[in-house]
Amino acid sequence: MLKITPYLGILVVIVSIAGLWYPVLGYFMILVFATLLAISPFRGRWFCGNLCPRGSFSDFWVGKISQNKKIPPVLRSFWVRVPIFLFMMGFMGYRLLQTQGLFNQIGMIFVIMCLTTTTIAILLGLSINPRTWCTFCPMGTLQHILGKDRYQVKLDAEKCINCKKCDKVCPMQLDVRNSLSKRDCIKCGRCVEVCPKAALAFEN
Ligand code: SF4
Ligand code: SF4
Repeated sequence: MLKITPYLGILVVIVSIAGLWYPVLGYFMILVFATLLAISPFRGRWFCGNLCPRGSFSDFWVGKISQNKKIPPVLRSFWVRVPIFLFMMGFMGYRLLQTQGLFNQIGMIFVIMCLTTTTIAILLGLSINPRTWCTFCPMGTLQHILGKDRYQVKLDAEKCINCKKCDKVCPMQLDVRNSLSKRDCIKCGRCVEVCPKAALAFEN
């Protein structure tokens, strides 16, 4: 996690609320898309754990009052994620075509998209777990596919004492030491930091 990560959540609040009066703020979403597309082929979902304003908002605002329950495994399934991805991209494309290129209308579509998805993320975050949205977020799914197995947390099994501290701090509720489960690792580094035996490290 970067030093600025905990402070990025305010950006999603600004775009979602102030954007209703200043649609130009919606163009911030294009910067977000471009950044995660550029990073994901090299670092997978690194953006989600380090630069995503909604992820930061979920962790550091919603996380304070979340129920912190187990995220339903079905939400990680591609049977759920791919239809959500296709629906949201298709719907956004359809709405963008309707704008006929008008600057403010395009900005407002991104603002409404940000407000809608953030509202869903907050409701799920409060009632289940802060990062519930992130398990099926269309941008997370895209990075999951583009990133493949890049920049994974690797275990030195000889050092591990099976204390499970890594599993307890993982915001995505991953089985941290099982490499098969980690394409949805958001590279937040919490598991690496908490391990008392330095048994975990990022590797390309
Ligand atoms: S925190 Fe480190 S020592 Fe503990 S279970 Fe995880 S990898 Fe093993
Ligand atoms: S596996 Fe480690 S780096 Fe990845 S999301 Fe979980 S705690 Fe963060």
